[in-house]
Amino acid sequence: MADENKRDYYEVLGVEKNASDTEIKKAYRKLAQKYHPDMNPGDKTAEAKFKEVNEAHEVLSDPEKRSRYDQFGFAGVDPNFNPNAGGFGGGFGGGFGGFGDLGDIFGDLFGGGFGGQSARKTGPRKGQNIGSDVRITFEEAAFGCKKQITVSRVENCSTCGGNGCAEGTSPQTCDQCRGTGSVRVTRQTAFGAFAQTSPCPKCGGTGKLISDPCNTCKGKGKVRKNKKLEINIPAGIDDGQSIRVRGEGNVGSDGGPNGDLLVEVSVQPHKDFRREGTDVIYEMPITFPQAALGAEVEVPTLDGKVRYTIPEGTQTGTVFRLKGKGIPRIGYNTRGDQFVSVVVKTPTKLSKEQKELLQKFAEAGSGGKSKKKGIFG
Ligand SMILES: [Zn+2]
Ligand SMILES: [Zn+2]
Repeated sequence: MADENKRDYYEVLGVEKNASDTEIKKAYRKLAQKYHPDMNPGDKTAEAKFKEVNEAHEVLSDPEKRSRYDQFGFAGVDPNFNPNAGGFGGGFGGGFGGFGDLGDIFGDLFGGGFGGQSARKTGPRKGQNIGSDVRITFEEAAFGCKKQITVSRVENCSTCGGNGCAEGTSPQTCDQCRGTGSVRVTRQTAFGAFAQTSPCPKCGGTGKLISDPCNTCKGKGKVRKNKKLEINIPAGIDDGQSIRVRGEGNVGSDGGPNGDLLVEVSVQPHKDFRREGTDVIYEMPITFPQAALGAEVEVPTLDGKVRYTIPEGTQTGTVFRLKGKGIPRIGYNTRGDQFVSVVVKTPTKLSKEQKELLQKFAEAGSGGKSKKKGIFG
């Protein structure tokens, strides 16, 4: 069983050697979904990958097996090398040991929005999360704001109150599954036969039969609606961050909680300011005389203009800091700083007089040794 061609388990899951349990679980779910036989009917490569992924997960998700694998490689988890190690022999041949767990993962993965895949259609289930986005200005991001957005989401049908039945009627318990919504079937897979519960074909897994469906929702009990919501955007939010609004997603089933709404925020660039974390960067042009002689200038900030004294002899690239004039830290009562980077502008359109004065300046700058000094002086 010590197959030299076997790929490293971490490589199989595409995670680092020091990956956390959560990272491993996440990587596994993604790959298991991708290569699941139900998703790739008849695809032998996918089947092999699915098996490989499951094997890697079985080892890496078990702290004891993982540490043996880290120490001894495949030999550490191969039952042929160490009969006491347990490993996963047998599990793959007949019953596919880890499948109970997989059922849970798939219930989770596909929610129930995945048609026939999930056997669990009865009982309270959380509604699906929905996504939306909103575009705000730089200042709105800095100081927070309220925004109206419209989301398309699934709600209970208001005509029937969500039970899917025409007025005056109510759903009947399905006689085929006795209301459980699932039936047991034996399935043939690449790993052998195993029993699995499937959604009841008669009621579609709901456990209920509707003889006289509601006209509005055609018996589904749910309808898609556009809903206007006001979203509170906290001060300090940055471009690309998301806000989770609990309970504003799709409605849950059978008394389950609603899903959440995730709003991704995009922040428009500012014409003067740039943002780095909670700091604001501002490039300030000053004139050559201001730089040379020093000057009191007005600097724009998020809170309006502030006065700042530029010392004489300031160079291009000098950065000064306005403490606390940056962006608020989300959830804290503090703010970042504003950094002002000075750019000395070289004048381009000079009058005759200005040119003469500069000429004088240039000559004075050479320490009085210039022969021309006398002409202007
Ligand atoms: Zn209805
Ligand atoms: Zn049924």
